[in-house]
Amino acid sequence: MTVELINTGSELMLGRVLNTHQQWLCRRLSDAGYNVVRQVAVADTGEHIQQAVRESLSRADLVITTGGLGPTSDDITRDLIAQLLCKRLHRDKHVLAQIKAAFKARKRSMIDSVLVQTLVPEGALVLPNPNGTAPGLAIEVNPNPFRPDGAASWLIMLPGPPRELRPMFTDGAMPLLRRVLPSRTAFVCRTLRTSGVPESLVQEAIGKRLHKLVKAGLDVGYCARVGQVDVRLSAKGTRAAVLVREAERVVGRRLGENIYGFDDDDVESSIIRLLTKRKRTLSLAESCTGGLLANRITNVSGASAVFLAGLVTYANSEKENQLGVRPESLRTFGAVSKTVCQEMAQGVREKTGSDYAISVTGIAGPSGGTKMKPVGTVFIGFAGPKGSCVERHFNPFDRQTFKEVTTSQALDLLRRQIKQHDFEGR
Ligand code: ATP
Ligand code: MG
Repeated sequence: MTVELINTGSELMLGRVLNTHQQWLCRRLSDAGYNVVRQVAVADTGEHIQQAVRESLSRADLVITTGGLGPTSDDITRDLIAQLLCKRLHRDKHVLAQIKAAFKARKRSMIDSVLVQTLVPEGALVLPNPNGTAPGLAIEVNPNPFRPDGAASWLIMLPGPPRELRPMFTDGAMPLLRRVLPSRTAFVCRTLRTSGVPESLVQEAIGKRLHKLVKAGLDVGYCARVGQVDVRLSAKGTRAAVLVREAERVVGRRLGENIYGFDDDDVESSIIRLLTKRKRTLSLAESCTGGLLANRITNVSGASAVFLAGLVTYANSEKENQLGVRPESLRTFGAVSKTVCQEMAQGVREKTGSDYAISVTGIAGPSGGTKMKPVGTVFIGFAGPKGSCVERHFNPFDRQTFKEVTTSQALDLLRRQIKQHDFEGR
């Protein structure tokens, strides 16, 4: 079964809105065994929308469109598709009642322009929209005049706003698909997330060992992100689960502690989990990352149980005042040095009384570099009950990338140290 996705919206083509529907829908569809083979984004013009729908209907068993179901003049998807399929639009009593109720609930009087959303092409099914006024629509195009063999296709129209589209897809479109177009191919996908190992080494460690499974139908994908590499193991068909499980065992054995999580996990969540489980606390002393490390940690719900404080000590004076870094260390070695970094980690740990502490000091650039310490030089320190350590890295990137890479390295150091301390403590 083939699926094509058409995202409509001039805001997408003007680069004003990121096309998150593409990722979100493709992920849900592939997890459910539906194979998305093509996706296009088109501007809100009659010609482009109709051309894209006509083309997709000539190939795919299922075509999904997003956007353009609202009440404004640029919301023309419903009209254009009805026109393309030569279907008359009729006013749907139930949709009208739902829209009236939605306005009443919000204590607002209904404006005439919303009435366009009560129009339903003949033969279409309505997908309720509990989070907005525009319902989704599903049509079986049967016979399908655009397909050379005339075979039927399903066409599903979803609204643009993510908070309306996502629940409608999960609660309305997915159950419908399972009924009218059940996917017969089992699909299993597992992502193992690693940090601290470059992509080429990850592949070297596991590539050959997976060879036999790949020949049996396993698909292996590598996705490198800042400081991290995801290994995606997937397979289709009746042996899919067995193949993926076996591959996961192989990768687990080879990459061991480098794996911090699975599927949608991120490294900061895995750290909060580790700390919570072990009842340990954390504090941070940041300089060049300007609080990004604290931001990443506090993005995780539940961080308050383990995270005590994050100090952004940018000026030397504040490294002394807040963290107790010695003036001699700053004078002798400079703010960006192993010694100062170590004192920052130990200082924030002592000040806050946390079990673990991480410190960061470096030169983000573009100015401020020297021959010995060029732009991109950064020290990352760790302090814990069993001692401290400092790593030196070189991240010669623009400021934003520098911060992202550095915080990923700091999180990786922290994760490994917590695990190591744990191991030594046993
Ligand atoms: P509305 O009733 O809000 O007009 P609609 O069904 O007509 O809904 P659009 O007008 O196409 O949808 O889009 C509404 C908003 O939804 C856009 O301004 C944008 O913020 C968001 N949106 C639309 N398409 C996408 C997309 N592909 N990815 C992420 N957000 C999107
Ligand atoms: Mg709109």
